[in-house]
Amino acid sequence: MKFRDLSDYYEKLSSISSRLEMIDLLAEMFSRAGKDEVRGIIYITQGVLAPPFEGIEFGMAEKMVEEAVAFSTGCTKKEVEVEYRKAGDMGKAAGLIKGRSRSRGLSSNELSVNQVHRSMLKIATTAGGGSKDLKIKMLASLLSQSSPLEAKYIVKYTMDELRLGLGDATILEALAAAYCGGRKHKAQLERAYNLCSDLGLVGEVAAAEGLVGISGFKVTLFKPIRPALAERLPTAEQIMERMGGTCAVEQKYDGFRCQIHKDGSKVKIFSRRLEDTTPMFPDLAAAVVNEIGEKSLILDGEALAYNNVTNEFLPFQETIQRKRKHNISEKVEQLPLHLFAFDIMSLGGKDLISEPYSKRRKALEATLAGSATMSPATMILASSPKELEDFFEKSVEEGLEGIVAKQLESEYVAGARKFSWIKMKRSYKGELSDTLDLVVVGYYLGRGMRSDFKFGGLLCATYNEKKDAFETISRIGTGFTEKQMSELQGILGKEVVREKPPRVESIVHPDFWVYPRHVVTVRADEITKSPTHTCGMEEGGGSGRVGLALRFPRLVGDEAIRKDKGPEDATTTKEVIEMYRNQKRVRAEDS
Ligand code: AMP
Repeated sequence: MKFRDLSDYYEKLSSISSRLEMIDLLAEMFSRAGKDEVRGIIYITQGVLAPPFEGIEFGMAEKMVEEAVAFSTGCTKKEVEVEYRKAGDMGKAAGLIKGRSRSRGLSSNELSVNQVHRSMLKIATTAGGGSKDLKIKMLASLLSQSSPLEAKYIVKYTMDELRLGLGDATILEALAAAYCGGRKHKAQLERAYNLCSDLGLVGEVAAAEGLVGISGFKVTLFKPIRPALAERLPTAEQIMERMGGTCAVEQKYDGFRCQIHKDGSKVKIFSRRLEDTTPMFPDLAAAVVNEIGEKSLILDGEALAYNNVTNEFLPFQETIQRKRKHNISEKVEQLPLHLFAFDIMSLGGKDLISEPYSKRRKALEATLAGSATMSPATMILASSPKELEDFFEKSVEEGLEGIVAKQLESEYVAGARKFSWIKMKRSYKGELSDTLDLVVVGYYLGRGMRSDFKFGGLLCATYNEKKDAFETISRIGTGFTEKQMSELQGILGKEVVREKPPRVESIVHPDFWVYPRHVVTVRADEITKSPTHTCGMEEGGGSGRVGLALRFPRLVGDEAIRKDKGPEDATTTKEVIEMYRNQKRVRAEDS
């Protein structure tokens, strides 16, 4: 496929807001691509160079791109800067300049999508002395071969500003339509994606082998599995009712989620967001090699600073100090980590993901038997609400967050929040028992003192999985610390977009829109019905054209933005509706 054709599709996609139309157009685009082109097309469409867990970044600052545009069009850097300011978007500016420049007529229209993807990968991985100039030259060379429209999308891709409004779920649905016999097979593609976290690979297999290849997908060492997540319920009675009989109850640890892959002496540790965090945890990586006999495995667990002598958990504020890129060895000495493993998804080359919890737990206990740095999460079997409640109280007394109950028969549900795992956390009197992780979609200007920071509040949204869209739930206007305000202004101020971003559903208009990218943790007193917010409006969370909102929302945490969560990891609309129903139920039971 020519990059020109891909650019045409992007142009059309940017003018569509209906999700179904987007899926149709994407499916048409995929069916026109060669089997060996699908992977590259998917990465470009996602705005990445490789699956995100490989951590390959473009590494091109704004000024470098400006220079490449100037170089390839014969303009001065000043001219590019002026056009950029006018257009508010470097891609648009590059397209306009290219359209006016003398080199316009030389456009070959021959760039293929694979050529663009390969060149961009080469630019990104060029490092070392003199690499800055080399990167600029390579980008300029690519731009000088491109038409104005191609230049627009190459620059947008480089600057991480593609913003086509396509979530992973939408791309998967289009792949199902193009290669697997229809959108109805989307679930199989989702399963494959949840097992490897590499949308490009899933697309390539779908294009080459159709549904058969997709159904045969297995976990692969060093490709992170999208983590299983827990639903929430507020009382032991409700949890036991939902579990439908004896269940396992594990302590819930508050540290770093670690998914550990081991093959001989090679170890990788992935975060909850599937980033490769191995360099941050050399002590854990060494323990995996030295303290586990099994040659290959994949483990899931939570690592926290723990005093092995007094058997005490250190608070999260201590553990979090291990999150650093420099002087790691010093912190390793001061704050050694302990891993509480709660699952095992692969052992000795055997896929355990579909085995029942009880069997995986046995395998986990046997595997960690000889380790001092790693142990299975403390667990009891509970058959009554009282047993569960007592274990919960004991865990809270020990300084933990709460418990996670697990169905004994359940498989490891990659990438999904299901009732086979249910969490119950410490509750705070008069407040919702759990916090919400919300996506920032806009912000407000400050008044009075706050205006020093040019920041006065956030517009936040939940993630609606069914629609693959973000629905507003709250304006948060109070309770920010100065540190949080300057952090938020510093980050959001650079990311303002002129119009409401695609996938954001909102009736209210903040002073500035931002692309849904950052997650904040919010505590509130209760969930109320609201005509001004869109959360749950269509699902009837509130009834009729009424959505749900938060009463007295405020940010939690020292740092405002949760770096471990992406927008699709935010609390979902479905969960908020569930919390709203529970809140009504608990109130009714109390009165
Ligand atoms: P939350 O972040 O409140 O949604 O809670 C879910 C998180 O709890 C998971 O992503 C894990 O990182 C963490 N967690 C801690 N202990 C456990 C456990 N025993 N089982 C499952 N998840 C756990």
